[in-house]
Amino acid sequence: MDSYYLWTIGCQMNQADSDRLAGALEHMGLHSVTQPEQADVIVLNSCVVRQGAEDRVVGSLTSLKPLKTRNPDKVLALMGCMVGPKQDELKAKYPYVDFFMPPQQFAPLLDRVGDGVGVEWDDYLGPILPATRAVSCHVPIIKGCDLMCTFCIIPYRRGRQVSRPVDEVVHEVELLVARGVKEVTLLGQTVDAYGYDLADQPDLADLLERLNDIDGLARIRFLTSHPIFLSKKIMEAVARLDKVCEHINLPVQAGDDQVLERMRRRYTRNDYLSLIDDIRSTVPNVALNTDIIVGFPGETAQQFQRTLDLIEGVGFDKVHSAMYSERPGTIAHRQLPDDVSPEEKSRRIKELDQLQEKLLTRRNASFKGQHVEVLVEERKKGRWQGRTRGDKLVFFDDPEDRAGQLVTVVVTKTSPWSLQGELVHSELAKAADNVARRL
Ligand code: SF4
Repeated sequence: MDSYYLWTIGCQMNQADSDRLAGALEHMGLHSVTQPEQADVIVLNSCVVRQGAEDRVVGSLTSLKPLKTRNPDKVLALMGCMVGPKQDELKAKYPYVDFFMPPQQFAPLLDRVGDGVGVEWDDYLGPILPATRAVSCHVPIIKGCDLMCTFCIIPYRRGRQVSRPVDEVVHEVELLVARGVKEVTLLGQTVDAYGYDLADQPDLADLLERLNDIDGLARIRFLTSHPIFLSKKIMEAVARLDKVCEHINLPVQAGDDQVLERMRRRYTRNDYLSLIDDIRSTVPNVALNTDIIVGFPGETAQQFQRTLDLIEGVGFDKVHSAMYSERPGTIAHRQLPDDVSPEEKSRRIKELDQLQEKLLTRRNASFKGQHVEVLVEERKKGRWQGRTRGDKLVFFDDPEDRAGQLVTVVVTKTSPWSLQGELVHSELAKAADNVARRL
């Protein structure tokens, strides 16, 4: 047993889980391959948040049946949000799958691989770190969610909120930095609710404070925040701590109070807008991202228009939009008829995306001529790419190896989705540094 194939779909949390499983498998001597046919161990890390994602998982799982039937010694595992606490139905439907593992619970697979390679993995693996050697790394700090938004399946699959202790997170980030990681993104479904379930009740601001002291770490981000948990203390920590990026992902989901109530989001449009004002007055030059669900049950054209008005009024740096799709098991599926037609949902999402493109064209054009601090991630198709503190994607050319460096770039060209620029060399970079830090 010496190779593995790992396929992942879904959110950053799923990607982080996959990175950690890959890290454990590589620690046990397996190497990654790009085709399931070449692998001894095949893992699909699934997502069921939207119908499209679930369909792709089912397609992949079904396509693996002939391979597994021809090669019964291959180990096949399904992990992630498709695997709930009760697995009888999945086992009946996919009897050729060896392991069904709920999110982050991959110990059964590691036991099996440990048997295959002749080691007791939990004796020597220690904290499971991601396999990736990337400049930026996701670090889950909470699993689960204590809220019950009516459209969401996650609390049923990832369970109640469980925060990792501060010392454990700090230790993990120190290990990552020792391996060359420069930026960490702390992950949680409601990341700003961090800590209330821990004995001494630290909060996200306390954790940011500790991480900010780690030598060699350049940047810290966190996502996803929920409007009801984003406290003044967290905002002040973002404003004060030099490594914490001025970048907040704050899903609003809809701009109309009745829709928000049906979603059980626990805030009103006005609550959200005053929170945005508070963030902007506390954290200058903050970049704000949001998520929107289009065509939620009962959403009228006027209610959708209120969402568009909110997006225009706030001027987000990024809007992730998705059409509502029924998720069996959720409150919305049980209680709210999916009554916005697919054609109308498509029309609305197109309108929203066009608005966002127009707003971002204007917003990004304002960066032209400015100096921005960029953490360089990698070279792709001959060009370096990295991100600003506000998470803008930036491309530039340079013959030197810049991976992992913080550089200053003067923006020469903009589009709604990225910035292009020229590297500013060191002396000039120092002079521009003060300008760049907050962009
Ligand atoms: S806050 Fe709502 S949408 Fe986010 S994970 Fe929890 S239940 Fe789902």
